[in-house]
Amino acid sequence: MEVGHDSEKEVIVDYAGSLFRAHKVRGSLYACPICKNALFYNEKDLIRHIVSHAMASEEAI
Ligand SMILES: [Zn+2]
Repeated sequence: MEVGHDSEKEVIVDYAGSLFRAHKVRGSLYACPICKNALFYNEKDLIRHIVSHAMASEEAI
């Protein structure tokens, strides 16, 4: 059965009690849910990247 979604699925990453929504692609890579361009091999790098997005938007306020 065709899914037509390039084996991408949504996952919830739990980091220090904070839940982050992310996309997992090709089984082992995490894709940034914000810019959708960055790919990461582990949750730690993904979270650091998401946090940097959050901090950037706080500075803009
Ligand atoms: Zn990003």
